[in-house]
Amino acid sequence: MAQEYFNYIDGKWVAAASGKTFASHNPATGELVGRAPESEAQDVARAVEAAARAFEKWRKTPAPRRAEIIHAAADLVRTRKQALGELLTREMGKVLSEALGDVQEAVDMGMYMAGEGRRLNGLLVPSELPNKWAMAVRDPLGVVGIITPWNFPIAVPSWKIFPALVTGNTLVWKPAEDTPVLAVEFVKIFEEAGLPPGVLNLVTGYGVPAGEALVEHPQVKLISFTGSNEIGKTIAIRCAQLGKRVSLELGGKNAIIVLDDADLDLALDGIIWSAFGTSGQRCTAASRVIVTPNVHTKLAESIADRAAKLRLGNGLLPTTDVGPLINQDAVTKVHHYTDIGRGEGAALLVGGERGTEGDLAHGHFYKPTVFDRVLPTMRLAQEEIFGPSLAIIRARDIDDAIRINNSVNFGLSASIYTSNVNKAFAAMRDVTTGIVYINAGTIGSEVQLPFGGTRGTGNGHREGGGPPVLDVFTEWKSIYVDYSGRLQRAQIDTDSLVQ
Ligand code: NAD
Repeated sequence: MAQEYFNYIDGKWVAAASGKTFASHNPATGELVGRAPESEAQDVARAVEAAARAFEKWRKTPAPRRAEIIHAAADLVRTRKQALGELLTREMGKVLSEALGDVQEAVDMGMYMAGEGRRLNGLLVPSELPNKWAMAVRDPLGVVGIITPWNFPIAVPSWKIFPALVTGNTLVWKPAEDTPVLAVEFVKIFEEAGLPPGVLNLVTGYGVPAGEALVEHPQVKLISFTGSNEIGKTIAIRCAQLGKRVSLELGGKNAIIVLDDADLDLALDGIIWSAFGTSGQRCTAASRVIVTPNVHTKLAESIADRAAKLRLGNGLLPTTDVGPLINQDAVTKVHHYTDIGRGEGAALLVGGERGTEGDLAHGHFYKPTVFDRVLPTMRLAQEEIFGPSLAIIRARDIDDAIRINNSVNFGLSASIYTSNVNKAFAAMRDVTTGIVYINAGTIGSEVQLPFGGTRGTGNGHREGGGPPVLDVFTEWKSIYVDYSGRLQRAQIDTDSLVQ
């Protein structure tokens, strides 16, 4: 009998009103990990109502007190890091070392946001009039709805939950349908840390109807969404119609530029890690290598050689380099792009097929795939594949490489390998992605800097860390205090002050 998990609404663990559940499976083995509520609009409504009731008290709880609970939660995540990491590998598939990193990111974000409890800077500026005080503070929004993907099932929710809580919002969270058990285990930690009932509510289930109901609910003031461009765009359009704030963190088509003067061994390590880590299922994964002529052939051969040696398998085994894809649809999609690449005339160097040998047959495996001779305009070079598929593109020089890098409808992460400091700085200036790495791969952001992208990757907000995350979850309120005891008119009475 599979273990059954529940929604968390108003401080209680409850089944969906319909009683329906859905299954979560291990993508490496097919094993059943658990069953979770298949929530519908009425479950979401109950959660939103609980969050709305909890809001008044939570927003008036001093931020340093809110931060104490956040700190306790982050500490509990740290204590349970190993168990959560192992569960993460079982439910989502990434290899254990990366799963532990996913969990660690939540510890980092929790600690960072706990610090914000005693900072939460506003603005204090001079007034143009005498005996007048001018300042601005941050107000919480109210009930916020967060909708998250499966690829970082602990880290990405932590980027949203911790800042939303420290700034005084209450929340309803709809996690991805592929990772509901992890969501339950994460929320249990907040309960144990002493978060009052109703402040954080969890409803598991499918995008439609559960996620959709959250977007539609009139009491939800913000939708903070991380996921695919397709769904993100639909949500943005609906939120515009409803007059609702929306923060989007969407897909990527990230490139590593390798110039003739680069340290090729260093670049190779960065490429293999960025392209095939998490089986290419990171929004920041490198799916393009843009290389200049003198090193093209040597680099392409080395990439293919290393990719062919990567060992597919269950992420809990120490011998595994690359875990499974999340589900069968993902395998089908990645393979479809292999067919597209072949059809477009790109040269397949390695991979291009499912992994089915031995135990792999029970899971959703795809062999690390490398295409060479890819043209920047090909679909292989333009569209997000979200799997272990890498396209090598030749560029004439650094200017051409940066132009190719910037020519896709995504703008999340980019990297350049060069030993020339002038070229590195030119790239820092001219690359138009939200994140740029010099002599490192496209993955590995840290919570104290903003995370997000340009063009189709988002809508201008930054989550994941750094001070800008607070802007997503707060409303600015400017306050003027006139203690002159008389009418003072801004912009009008100022002239009389100049003698
Ligand atoms: P997805 O868009 O399919 O699903 C994301 C979430 O949206 C899930 O919880 C899903 O249930 C929900 N959803 C689906 N339809 C909905 C609807 N109509 N209304 C409301 N909610 C709905 O994405 P995914 O496959 O889970 O995740 C992979 C994508 O996420 C990739 O494109 C990846 O690049 C992106 N991603 C981006 C970042 C970032 O920070 N930029 C981080 C991680 C992942």
